Amino acid sequence: MSNDAEAALLERDAKHVIHPLHSQAVHATGKVWVGGEGAYLIDANGDRFIDGLSGLWNNTAGNGRRELVEAGSRQLAKMAYASGYAGSSNPRAIELGEKLANITYPNINQFYFTSGGGESTDSNIKMARYYWKLKGKPDKTKVISRTGGYHGVTLAAMCATGISLYWPMFEPRIPGFIHIPGPYPYFYQAPEGAESQGIAAADELEKAILAEGADTVAMFIAEPVQGGGGVIVPQNDYFPRIRQICDKYDVLMVSDEVITGFGRTGKMFGLEHWGVKPDMIQFAKAITSGYFPLGGIGISDEIADVMHDSGKPWMHAYTYSAHPTGCAIACAMLDLIEAEDFSAQAAEKGKRLLVGLKDALGGHPNVGEVRGLGMMCAIEYVKDRATKELFDPSEGIGAKINAQTIERGLFSRIRTDAFFLAPPIVTDNDTIDRMIEITAESTKAVLG
Ligand code: PMP
Repeated sequence: MSNDAEAALLERDAKHVIHPLHSQAVHATGKVWVGGEGAYLIDANGDRFIDGLSGLWNNTAGNGRRELVEAGSRQLAKMAYASGYAGSSNPRAIELGEKLANITYPNINQFYFTSGGGESTDSNIKMARYYWKLKGKPDKTKVISRTGGYHGVTLAAMCATGISLYWPMFEPRIPGFIHIPGPYPYFYQAPEGAESQGIAAADELEKAILAEGADTVAMFIAEPVQGGGGVIVPQNDYFPRIRQICDKYDVLMVSDEVITGFGRTGKMFGLEHWGVKPDMIQFAKAITSGYFPLGGIGISDEIADVMHDSGKPWMHAYTYSAHPTGCAIACAMLDLIEAEDFSAQAAEKGKRLLVGLKDALGGHPNVGEVRGLGMMCAIEYVKDRATKELFDPSEGIGAKINAQTIERGLFSRIRTDAFFLAPPIVTDNDTIDRMIEITAESTKAVLG
C-alpha cells in the first residue's frame, strides 16, 4: 500500500474527529490503525509496528484472541444488552463478580462496574463520601492523591489526577482535592534524618492529613506503580507505611489498579508486591484486554456491609454498568489470564525487557534511569547523569526518540523525556529483544 492511504484517511479524520489530547498539528502526522496481530499493529499503509504500550496499557492478551472474540460474539447474539440497574442483572455480570472475588484482595468481594478508569475513580470518590456519611462523619469528603498520579479526566477524576497539565483549561477544580509528592525514587529528596526515602515519602500523607484535619479526609488514592506519570515503582517500605497512616487516621485507602491489575506487574494486583490490602480498588483496561470498554470498583466487606445496612439506594448509576457483552468478554479474559498465567509471564518477560534495556542503555551518559516492574518499564533521559539535570523541554528529546522508534517499527508513548515500554504480556522473546534493539538504536540516533 502506498503512503497515500494513511495520509488520505488522516485528512478526512481531521475534518470530523476530535481525539483525546487533541491537537490538529500533532495529528497531521498521526497513525491510522487498521489491523492487529498479537503484539503487532498494522497501519493504513500496511506497515507493521510492535505495540509497545499494549494499546493504552490495556491489550495484555494482544490482538486476535479467538476466546475473547467468541465470548463477545456469543453474548451479542444471545442478548447484546440489558439493564444492570437495581432490579435487573445478567449471568455474565454475576459470574464476573464471583471470579473477581476469587482473585482480588481477600477483603474485597463486592463490585460495581463502569465503562472505564475515569468513571471508576468517580465511583470510588462517591462511594467513599457516602460511606463516611453513613458512618456519621459527613465532613470526611476530601481526596488526597499524589503528584504524577493519573486517575482519569472526568471532572472529579481530573481533580484527583496529579499531573497539572490536565487542569488549567478546565479550572476551577472541585475543592477538597489535595496532592502530596509521589515517592519517585529517582528524584524524591527525603528530609535529613529520615528513616528511609520510602518512609519519608509515605509520611507526606500523614503531614497532609494533619494539615487538612483527619475529620475532613475521606480517602487516599494511589496507583501501586504510577503508569502515565512515568512508570514509577515505589520503595518497598512505601505502601506498608501508607497503610499504617490510613488506618491511624481513618482514611480509606484506594488502589488504582487500572494499569497494574490482572498481572501486568508480575502479580495479579499491584499491592500484592508489598503485602498490603487496600479498602477499595478500581480496575479497567486489561480486564477485557481492551476488547470492550469495561471497568469497575471493588469495595471491602466493611464498606459493603455499611452500605447494605443503610437500606437506602445508592444514587449512582451508568447505563453500561454490568454490560452483558463486556462482562462476557471480561469472564473469558479472566479465564485466559489464569490458563496462561499472565502474572508469571509478565514477571519473566518483564525481567528480560528490563535487564535487556539496562544492558543496552544503562551506561549511556543521557540515560538517568531504566526502571520497571513486571511488563512495564521506562527509560528516563536526562541532560546530565551526575546532577540529574533535565533537558530543556524545548529540545523535545522524548518526542525525538519516540519518532525514531516509530521509524523503526515500534509504537509507544512518552512522558516528557521518559520513554515507556509496556507491551502485551503475550509478546514473544524475539519481539522483546527487537524492542530493546530499537530503543537502543533510537537513543543513539538522537543522543549519540
Ligand atoms: N487510572 C489509571 C491508573 C489510568 O492509567 C487511567 C488511564 N490511563 C485511568 C485511571 C483512566 O482511565 P480511562 O481513560 O479509561 O478513563
